[in-house]
Amino acid sequence: MDLSDWLSCAGCGMLVYRKRFDRLSRVCPDCGRHAQLTAEQRLVGLLDAGSGTRVEPAPSVHDPLGFEDLLPYTDRLDSARARTEMDCAVRVVRGAVRGRGVVVAVMDFRFLGGSMGAAEGEAIVAAAEEALKHRLPLLIVTASGGARMQEGVFSLLQMARTSNAMAALDEAGLLTMTLVTDPTYGGVAASYATLSDVILAEPGARMGFAGPRVIEQTIRQRLPEGFQTAEFLLEHGLLDGVVPRGELPQVLQSLLALGAPPGPGWDPAVTDPVIRYPELLPERPVAQVVGLARELGRPTTLDHVAAWGGEFVELRGDRAGADCPAVVGGLADLDGLPVMLIGHQKGHTTQELVRRDFGMPSPAGYRKAVRLMRLAGKLRVPVVTLIDTPGAHPGLEAERHGQAHAIADCLRVMGSLDVPVVSVITGEGGSGGALALAVADRLLLCENAIFSVISPEGCAAILWRSGEAAPEAAAALGVDAVTLLSNGIVDGVVPEPAGGAHQAPAAASKLVRDAVVCALRELREQDGAALREARRRRLRWFGTYREKVAI
Ligand SMILES: [Zn+2]
Repeated sequence: MDLSDWLSCAGCGMLVYRKRFDRLSRVCPDCGRHAQLTAEQRLVGLLDAGSGTRVEPAPSVHDPLGFEDLLPYTDRLDSARARTEMDCAVRVVRGAVRGRGVVVAVMDFRFLGGSMGAAEGEAIVAAAEEALKHRLPLLIVTASGGARMQEGVFSLLQMARTSNAMAALDEAGLLTMTLVTDPTYGGVAASYATLSDVILAEPGARMGFAGPRVIEQTIRQRLPEGFQTAEFLLEHGLLDGVVPRGELPQVLQSLLALGAPPGPGWDPAVTDPVIRYPELLPERPVAQVVGLARELGRPTTLDHVAAWGGEFVELRGDRAGADCPAVVGGLADLDGLPVMLIGHQKGHTTQELVRRDFGMPSPAGYRKAVRLMRLAGKLRVPVVTLIDTPGAHPGLEAERHGQAHAIADCLRVMGSLDVPVVSVITGEGGSGGALALAVADRLLLCENAIFSVISPEGCAAILWRSGEAAPEAAAALGVDAVTLLSNGIVDGVVPEPAGGAHQAPAAASKLVRDAVVCALRELREQDGAALREARRRRLRWFGTYREKVAI
């Protein structure tokens, strides 16, 4: 056995045949550890063969301070250049991933630990400018130990420099993506790595501002297992997803397709199922409707998007410490065109319901929704919300983290969007927790869904002083489709299959999809500012005698 044909995995110690390891893009077949790649290896694995064109950044000052520690900085630079055949720790290429154009900046950890000097900052800025010039999305693959101490404050300032290059891409409406690889720390984490619209990480990759050693020395405690790993970051709302290396091209292909502004119109063959006259709706006791609205077999947001059959890239996290399981969202393909789908998420079993907090969002859920709405606005992609919640989570933690403000911000941001917004109440439209996702150009309601200021039980307990009066309360509150449509609260009602959506979930999902497609078909012809103005005008006169005139 020739030992040079084998290598030992740094994660599990198993011997792996070198050629097999390379074929697996340097991922251990036993423990799944993702070994570091050089910038060149990354680009070869990512870009379509022959599609890449190198982007050359402007020359940077080499050694602004004339720095010397045990070795002169220039010696360290020279040996890093000789070892890596790179001028700095970042390589920038304009190319294509599965046929879709993209600018990629890749960091190489071998070059002085991916530390950020003026040349690295220049390369990131050049990548952003290349994206701007060609109106292409930008992908940055990060790997960095932190600042380049030898360049002093010149190194520090790269954080501000690169962050503002990212801001220019936001203003231009171009999609930005980061792939975090192990390790990504310090100034890189606190600038372009975390400013991207979509932040993905490789399994096990660590990212943070302060490194683990610094934290342990400061707090004099051992850090918990898995702290700052990709899985930890995802759970804490700081990433959109953890993507194994082999799946990355597919995920990028979907993102690049969905992150582009929509092209020409939706399929004109789709016919609008929406009912706009209350006389056409079946009459049934309101209490029965309340039961149907809460039926556990009704399709959830994730069921709907799965039934629609297009691609869906779920985006996660509020970027501030949490990912709420009761709100889901992401870029979805709706009948061939991208939309930002955001919805409450319940479940069909007790286990699923517990995992999803019974569809009752925390402030992190509303902050995630706001983040995704803003992203939709930036990318000029319509927003579609699906509403099904008993209400926002009432709890200690929710209050402590600002539930009231999180909901209020949703109401404001949603009303301010200059892209089309369509909302469908698909089940329970419970109070402010539901309204937070319902500030739309078109508000639709499924036939057996409800919309209410308080649960009928809650209202009965307070005003009738008995929960048993819930049916009377439900009728008095006017929570059903007939009353809501008659009162002009909703614009239309989406019919459901006989017996309710739970009897034929796929058919119910198709009706919701067709209703949304037809609403968007009409709205997307309109100018963004005009849409926003009409949305605001409608709210302005709501509940006054001028209302009908204003609309
Ligand atoms: Zn291993």
